[in-house]
Amino acid sequence: MQGLMMQQPLLVASLLVHADRHHGDQEIVSRRVEGDIHRYRYRDLAQRARRMANGLTALGIQPGERVGTLAWNGYRHMELYFAVSGSGSVLHTLNPRLHVDQLAYIIEHAEDRVVFFDLTFLPLIESVAPRVKSPKLFVAMTDRAHMPRAHGLSGTLMCYEDLIELHSDAFDWPLLDENSASSLCYTSGTTGNPKGVLYSHRSTLLHTYAAALPDSLNCSARDVILPVVPMFHVNAWGLPYIACMVGAKLVFPGPALDGKSLYELIETEQVTLSAGVPTVWQGLLSHVAERAGTFSSMRRTVIGGAPCPTAMTTQFQERYDVDVLHAWGMTELSPVGTVCSFKAHQRALSGEERYAIQAKQGRSVFGIDMKIVGSDGDELPWDGNAAGDLLVRGPWVARQYFGGDDVPPLRDGWFPTGDIAKIDADGFMQITDRSKDVIKSGGEWISSADIENVACLHPDVTMAVCIAARHPKWDERPLLLVVRKPASSLTERQLLDFLDGRIAKWWKPDAVIFVEEIPLGATGKVLKHRLRDRYGSYYL
Ligand code: AMP
Repeated sequence: MQGLMMQQPLLVASLLVHADRHHGDQEIVSRRVEGDIHRYRYRDLAQRARRMANGLTALGIQPGERVGTLAWNGYRHMELYFAVSGSGSVLHTLNPRLHVDQLAYIIEHAEDRVVFFDLTFLPLIESVAPRVKSPKLFVAMTDRAHMPRAHGLSGTLMCYEDLIELHSDAFDWPLLDENSASSLCYTSGTTGNPKGVLYSHRSTLLHTYAAALPDSLNCSARDVILPVVPMFHVNAWGLPYIACMVGAKLVFPGPALDGKSLYELIETEQVTLSAGVPTVWQGLLSHVAERAGTFSSMRRTVIGGAPCPTAMTTQFQERYDVDVLHAWGMTELSPVGTVCSFKAHQRALSGEERYAIQAKQGRSVFGIDMKIVGSDGDELPWDGNAAGDLLVRGPWVARQYFGGDDVPPLRDGWFPTGDIAKIDADGFMQITDRSKDVIKSGGEWISSADIENVACLHPDVTMAVCIAARHPKWDERPLLLVVRKPASSLTERQLLDFLDGRIAKWWKPDAVIFVEEIPLGATGKVLKHRLRDRYGSYYL
């Protein structure tokens, strides 16, 4: 028997319609690329998003086509989140930290029809444009007064505010299929070319409900939310959608992510909740400690993307009375998978025991199921000791990559995360290692395979292996181990100079170690875990 309830698809635009109708007066504050602070309300956001939806139609963007953005966290980016997805096309957020070759690859692979960009990224766009067949249209996210005069995009550059002004705010959000694609984000989480994760309206809405729950990010209409995590990185962990769902005030930091700028914004806007990777919080904590400041409004901060060190949790909680929510997720998981919030019986534990729990990545939010398996594929017990491959499944987990000819990643319906974890009897998961061969520095991926390939192009290199070494500031940094050709006198400096320009600057290994040989397994594969055991603490 069928239920007798309304059939309403779960659509991204409905979040905006709700925010407009029920929280129209709520503020959105942005530090702009132009240097000033911009303020408006959800009502204005909704109106301008409708104008932009008409603008996109006028540009000829068809349903399902991809619209790229290369932008910081700000209100114009937020408008595109809703104008693009809401009107049926696909918002493709591009990561400006990638090397120009990778950006060009991703833009072509996604077949972006147009790319919107913040002025900061004009030089990057100018380098990318000649390398790609599409798009032939770029939109600078600024007003006429700030449009660049001289640039290399002649005939293909438009002004964002022109598009807004030219078009009417009368737009009816179409009734889309909830399973249609809403946004796209590429991840370098595995070796080889970046892979696109294509979210649907349904997956985004379900993720939004779950991530807003009290034991998840615990968001409400009383909150003032500062997403420091970039909107180009897995939809800023869903916060732009969550803020609309609950009617929270939003504060966008723009390009200024240093401790001083963040602290000013947190205090002047009375931020209650913020979210970002540990590296960013280190800058903030040092700044606040230096000037003996306090947090007058902030009550919790979500820390994820990399393990949150206990020293950071202690400092936030004991010194500043700011609760730390340690969370784990992935681009392929939209991204929230687990959040470390206490169960009732854990609240009575001693401080030390509680910190030991908070060092874990946490328990599943409803919607994500997880398990750990051994090398034989058998499920391992949740005893807090056994460590195995972490697999997940749920309605906001990717089942395949976008346009991928690769083998679909799922194993018996479960997504292999590439993380190694243990799970305790209370269901708290803790990452112990990573099986995927990538380095995560300051919250962004570095492909060890790409560095190895480029290093091997040097005529004096016989073999090059790049591993993640732990780093006090960046969490991990690449370390390059090299076997030189016999009689070669190649130096570390010469090899690093050779890498210049061939990989993104921040991908350059902090050190090169010349070794006699690299340990290989029975099938000739490099035993990276052995190298990690030996050299993993090199930067500490
Ligand atoms: P991304 O797809 O860029 O969001 O990266 C996802 C990966 O980051 C995960 O598979 C983990 O390897 C790592 N990661 C994310 N959050 C955490 C965390 N809290 N602790 C440890 N590693 C994390």
